[in-house]
Amino acid sequence: MGFFDKIKKAVLGEKPAEEEIKDLPVEQEETPEIEEVTSIETVEVETPVEEKAVEIKEEIQVEKVEVVKQEETIEKYDKGLEKSRKTFGQFMNDLFSNFRMVDDEFFEELEEALISADVGFETAMRISDELQEEVKLKNVKKQEDVQNTIIEKLVEIYEAEGQEENNNLNIQTDGPTIILFVGVNGVGKTTSIGKLAHRYKQEGKKVLLAAADTFRAGAIDQLVVWGDRAGVDVVKHSAGSDPAAVVFDAVERTKKENYDILLVDTAGRLQNKVNLMKELEKMKRVIEREYPSAPHEVLLVVDATTGQNAMIQAKEFKDTTDVTGIVLSKLDGTAKGGMVLAIRNELHLPVKLVGLGEKITDLADFDPNQFVYGLFKDLMENYEN
Ligand code: GDP
Ligand code: MG
Repeated sequence: MGFFDKIKKAVLGEKPAEEEIKDLPVEQEETPEIEEVTSIETVEVETPVEEKAVEIKEEIQVEKVEVVKQEETIEKYDKGLEKSRKTFGQFMNDLFSNFRMVDDEFFEELEEALISADVGFETAMRISDELQEEVKLKNVKKQEDVQNTIIEKLVEIYEAEGQEENNNLNIQTDGPTIILFVGVNGVGKTTSIGKLAHRYKQEGKKVLLAAADTFRAGAIDQLVVWGDRAGVDVVKHSAGSDPAAVVFDAVERTKKENYDILLVDTAGRLQNKVNLMKELEKMKRVIEREYPSAPHEVLLVVDATTGQNAMIQAKEFKDTTDVTGIVLSKLDGTAKGGMVLAIRNELHLPVKLVGLGEKITDLADFDPNQFVYGLFKDLMENYEN
């Protein structure tokens, strides 16, 4: 199976959902023979046909829901990456418009193009170096093959970094999951919390939000609005109060009322790094006192539209506190989708969630295959087989 086929299979699945549902053995159930019933010792206790039928129906239902969910995710990525897809398409066009051979000049152009697509300097160099080796090794000459090798390298570089870890959120099964959201003002912390709250609420979990960004009254109100939208509870104090006190109350309430998920909104004021660090550490201590393994995630939200500036912010935050993953917001509003690679390769942090719009459902788990498919699907279709 070719590289693109693999990605396509990972993203789109092997066969259409309807077919698979049809394949389920709905009517294969046999009715027990009358003779068997007369001799009590030999009767095997089997699930009655009706019950089996209900089970199978439920299975089909679950599968249908899964398929719908997957289709929704593909659509979200598709729309959210529209701008980035155009950039990468254009980037390939420009790069290959007067392509003659893979020489030094070609690699220089490639590096420039990659840097302008916001994959970051180091990543651009690495792709270029690895491509040079591969071109020599496999004697790649044709434009199509060079192009495919570039795309392959992009995925490889993402995946190579995070071999052992996964991109999923660290959700607990035997107690509450506590997630801290950090990041500078305006990046999308509160919005991402609202979206995630909605997701877990839909999954039937009991969700609590903590308004620990007490810096402005507006910030608290905004979280309350998102709490209403998602239909989940919010713990808040008045503006200007101690954020750690809000967290304390929220943790107490989580314990007393058995919440499954606690999402903590925080303020991000980088102009005062020492204070910010102290404030975050204090919140963490308050959480740890009750739940030693928490917080289970410290998610740094960065705004994709700010490109390299977001990278600088992320580096500073990483020095300030232990970040476990990135939420890359506003991907829909930017052509800088290449940033995902820069974050992975230069910050060594997994992108766990991506914001793909302003609606409550516009949040998706980050999936490298979906991502690459979203960026390059036009090219993949052109170069099929
Ligand atoms: P915070 O200061 O970090 O809490 O940021 P907010 O959650 O208040 O978000 C700031 C602005 O970014 C708001 O206008 C949001 O609607 C917008 N925003 C957040 N996430 C996304 C996203 O994924 N896509 C788009 N297009 N806008 C977003
Ligand atoms: Mg906010």
